[in-house]
Amino acid sequence: MRQIRELSDDPAVDGILLQHPVPEQIDERAAFEAIAAAKDVDGVTRTSFATMAFDEGGFHSATPGGIMALLDAYDIPLAGKHAVVVGRSPILGKPVGMLLLARDATVTYCHSRTTGLADYVAEADVLVAAVGRPELIRGEWITPGAVVVDAGYADNTGDVEYAAAAERASFITPVPGGVGPMTIATLLAQTIRAARDHEAGRQEASWWGAAP
Ligand code: NAP
Repeated sequence: MRQIRELSDDPAVDGILLQHPVPEQIDERAAFEAIAAAKDVDGVTRTSFATMAFDEGGFHSATPGGIMALLDAYDIPLAGKHAVVVGRSPILGKPVGMLLLARDATVTYCHSRTTGLADYVAEADVLVAAVGRPELIRGEWITPGAVVVDAGYADNTGDVEYAAAAERASFITPVPGGVGPMTIATLLAQTIRAARDHEAGRQEASWWGAAP
């Protein structure tokens, strides 16, 4: 925790990524919150979550940000569509649902206490799987033409039964090689943005501080 705070205060550091999950003895939320908001390039702090929710230009949680960039790159229509998000973690399921909502999708969240998961999945125009249970979502549940984004990763396998789902989906991401690279790209893009903002702040400060 102390080291994260030191990095947060270090003017030579532009962005901080905390590799997680962290070991059990560490309070992961507290460790995230030790990251300065201006350096939160992985978008994990409460501040980043709130600025994302209010569309105020903060850093997006990297995987949800990458998923939205992917959907946009393929011109996937979202307004008025039913998006079903399976998973509700603060760094993935919850924020991706909020970003989809901000784009006028109608969003349903499913989680470990959801009953009748197959029925919800069958109603999805856009499905985002964010659980971490290999092939939890069966291909036969996917409605023909649906867009399937599989963020799950466990044992080198996604949450969706890929081969069967691919026969029905109009678009589907593979695992590995789908959402993962988009997460990395978002992380890099946000790191560059943080460095530029930092540099701009430094220049502004030195300009204001300059002798007349
Ligand atoms: P997490 O914190 O463990 O959350 C998992 C979510 O899945 C929880 O909301 C949980 O519900 C839900 N869930 C568990 N069992 C379920 C079931 N049987 N039916 C429906 N929902 C169920 O995990 P996470 O950090 O969000 O990550 C999720 C997955 O995405 C993992 O496989 C992780 O490796 C992967 N991931 C990939 C990337 C990438 O770059 N591709 C980045 C981050 C994470 P409750 O809330 O009710 O417990």
